[in-house]
Amino acid sequence: MKMANSKTRFIFVTGGVCSSLGKGIAIASLGQLLEGHGYRISIIKMDPYINIDPGTMSPFQHGEVYVTEDGAETDLDLGYYERFTGARLTKKNSVSTGQIYYSVIQRERRGDYLGRTVQVIPHITDEIKKRIFDVADGEELDFVMVEIGGTVGDIESIPFLESIRQIRQELGSRRVLNIHLTLIPSISVAGEQKTKPTQHSVKELMQLGIIPDMLLCRTARPMSEDMRAKIALFCNVSERNVIAAEDINGSIYEIPRMLHKNGYDRIVLEHFGLPDGRLRLPQWDRFLKSMKSPRGRTTIAVVGKYISLQDAYRSIYEALVHGAAANQVEIEILRIDSEEIEQEKKGNLKKFFKDADGILVPGGFGDRGIEGKIMAISHARKEGIPFFGICLGMQCAVIEFGRNVCGLKNANSSEFDPGTPYPVISLLEDQQIVVEKGGTMRLGGYLCKFTDNSRIKKIYSKPSEVERHRHRYEFTIRFRELYERHGMLIGGIHPRNNLVETIEIKDHPWFIATQFHPEFNSRPVRPHPLFRDFIRAAADRSASRAK
Ligand code: GLN
Repeated sequence: MKMANSKTRFIFVTGGVCSSLGKGIAIASLGQLLEGHGYRISIIKMDPYINIDPGTMSPFQHGEVYVTEDGAETDLDLGYYERFTGARLTKKNSVSTGQIYYSVIQRERRGDYLGRTVQVIPHITDEIKKRIFDVADGEELDFVMVEIGGTVGDIESIPFLESIRQIRQELGSRRVLNIHLTLIPSISVAGEQKTKPTQHSVKELMQLGIIPDMLLCRTARPMSEDMRAKIALFCNVSERNVIAAEDINGSIYEIPRMLHKNGYDRIVLEHFGLPDGRLRLPQWDRFLKSMKSPRGRTTIAVVGKYISLQDAYRSIYEALVHGAAANQVEIEILRIDSEEIEQEKKGNLKKFFKDADGILVPGGFGDRGIEGKIMAISHARKEGIPFFGICLGMQCAVIEFGRNVCGLKNANSSEFDPGTPYPVISLLEDQQIVVEKGGTMRLGGYLCKFTDNSRIKKIYSKPSEVERHRHRYEFTIRFRELYERHGMLIGGIHPRNNLVETIEIKDHPWFIATQFHPEFNSRPVRPHPLFRDFIRAAADRSASRAK
């Protein structure tokens, strides 16, 4: 079994009591704090489900699928890791039970196990450990942090927990730290905080041979000293290593500083015998300051079919927040269900958009809700409301313009109407032979070269950029000339096979759509230029409407 290089330290984060406690944000926050002390980190998410990746899962099951630069379709926690830290994440940072079994079974079929019985221990656990050590080996990293998905007690996560137990056994406590995130609920009538669920969860962990070094306790209210002493006593953790992760009445971006105040990074550094130097987060603090001192306000309508879900458009919502902070405006996001727009027979869309200073149509798959998105785009185009389309949002804008400006009756994407007389959006050439669903789209970073007189080139203020993709369909290039004659400009092209990456309407206050997903490249400390400029245009509109 390959060992990790001798320098990297490992931090394992498990979750107890229930899901949705914010493990992803907790680990991303620690990553940021460690970087703020000058260390180099990476973060791995290990998901116990059998799917190879979430690319084939419905947003109802999983929320957003986050795409890395190298084209991995991953859990949305990787989005938090990238937004909170400077780590560059790749396929290696997202591991599932499906991937682990897939490699072991392939090896078994090749005969690599030389007649041995293939078992969970050691073969599955060795593969898990190898994936963890691989990340550590790739670069000179001070810390590799691993989030074990799911809740302790789940059957599926046992091989992952066994693997991290073995790593602790092999490398010792000087190189490994176990953090357990739990919930301290309050009984509302008595107003009392309860430690029992945490005690049970730690007991469960200990039965698997894992002794947590630190407990991170989600609480609605601050924790008293007595409470901490009690948790420490019953859970066998030193009192100062019981850290409160209080609910905050503000933005998730304030969490790292809050946890720092509670001693989070100090305890980690102490565990590893590292000096607790001064924490420096100058860019992050600047971002927090502009986010918290708005000088205006703007309202953006996001029109999609998964609007009721918190996380289906997570990176877009976050990128809007970054763009708003960059303009020092407060943002309100109106979530509008495109299927409800379709019900509006008379085509009077004012009731949906009377408060909107900008309209954004995000990505998606399948024809449900498409006509509502097209109606919203038509409204934005005609009323001069800033419009930003992303992936499917761009495809809908192309359909709308084809039907209503270029006179292409019943123009459509061949994804939604294979018999359309004008397939203005059609399957990418190399997609025509693809039959398997998983991991087969055009995925990850591709170069987009901007057209000289385009607005988008000015916004980026550079000639080209690599942006992330996740799609199968594309603007049909033979319609380009017709569209340009009617006032739509192709603002960006992927040069290798002449794929349309962005469109814009010249005669409009702000109408830009991209085939790529700029939201995956937006960071609080580096807001994406398109989101920044879109919010600027929307804020201008709200300011002039207020006059
Ligand atoms: N369904 C469209 C395609 O496959 C758009 C994909 C998306 O919006 N991510 O091209």
